Amino acid sequence: MKELIKSILPRIVVNKYRAYRAYKRYKGNSVLCPICNSSFKKFAPFGTSQRESRKCHNCGSLERHRLIFLYLNEKFNFFNNNSKDKIRLLHFAPEKMFYNIFSENNGIEYTACDLFPKEYNGKTKITKADITKIPFEDNSFDFIICSHVLEHIPNDRLAMSELYRVLSKKGDAILQVPIDYKRDKTYEDPNINSREERLQEYGHPDHVRYYGKDYKERLESCGFTVNVDHFISTLSKNNIFKYGLLESELIYHCKK
Ligand SMILES: [Zn+2]
Repeated sequence: MKELIKSILPRIVVNKYRAYRAYKRYKGNSVLCPICNSSFKKFAPFGTSQRESRKCHNCGSLERHRLIFLYLNEKFNFFNNNSKDKIRLLHFAPEKMFYNIFSENNGIEYTACDLFPKEYNGKTKITKADITKIPFEDNSFDFIICSHVLEHIPNDRLAMSELYRVLSKKGDAILQVPIDYKRDKTYEDPNINSREERLQEYGHPDHVRYYGKDYKERLESCGFTVNVDHFISTLSKNNIFKYGLLESELIYHCKK
């Protein structure tokens, strides 16, 4: 019956109803999503992780999105750029909650790219682009954000080299991937091809490797200077809890 109702009602109505239910159920002030400024009793569970408070009920942000947002806000003049020179931002595989903010910001010249572009109905059209063959000139961007993309790319070194190529000389890139810090070396095996095997070996059916601590060296081998920023250690325990962050998460802030 539930499925029948779902199939008849337009998706927007279903989503609004879900948001309303979540609002009622999680109403509270213990956690705060800094991206959409919404407060809740706790965040929603997400994925197979044992952590139960992960996803924002309003904008859908996860720990990693909220960390990047706080980092951008704190370390860069990113959201309040009043200079006549806009920040030329390249955003690969744009997450909707970021897309909405970047595409509306007058201080940002926003370029969003995806191999399989989604329709977000915002001001910026998402360009279809292969990250191993980025269709822009050298040094075209002041800022690049590429989060949880490279673990999907078989030739990730080529993708890294392309990101390096299009980044301007003084530019900044935030290049995040899931990392297993118990591994010194990245684990990848070209013989692992099926979705079942990838799920088993890499934790996700679409991932083609599990990065280890040598992720930094891999970026460096493609030209980047990498600052592995333990930004989260600058935040208080209270704020880490309030914003729903993962204490082990590091930021890979790369320069040309
Ligand atoms: Zn949110």
